[in-house]
Amino acid sequence: MTKSGAESLVPEDFDFEAIHKARSTTPLDERRRCPECRSTRVYQISDDPRGWTDADSDFGCENCQAHFDEPIRGGFDE
Ligand SMILES: [Zn+2]
Repeated sequence: MTKSGAESLVPEDFDFEAIHKARSTTPLDERRRCPECRSTRVYQISDDPRGWTDADSDFGCENCQAHFDEPIRGGFDE
């Protein structure tokens, strides 16, 4: 009888360190978040090719379609 199958769940070539590095090299400034749903899929409306200029808000969320003046910035870790 084998002790446990838990160890085989993580492949040996699974590179935790690379993932960690990739996360930590993301500039805080880039980690803008939607205040509504906290998604990072936030874009600047003035940069948007669809030209959403109907609102006073400068940012939009691709996730929940919210518009807002200021995204939440960085800091959170889910
Ligand atoms: Zn959102």
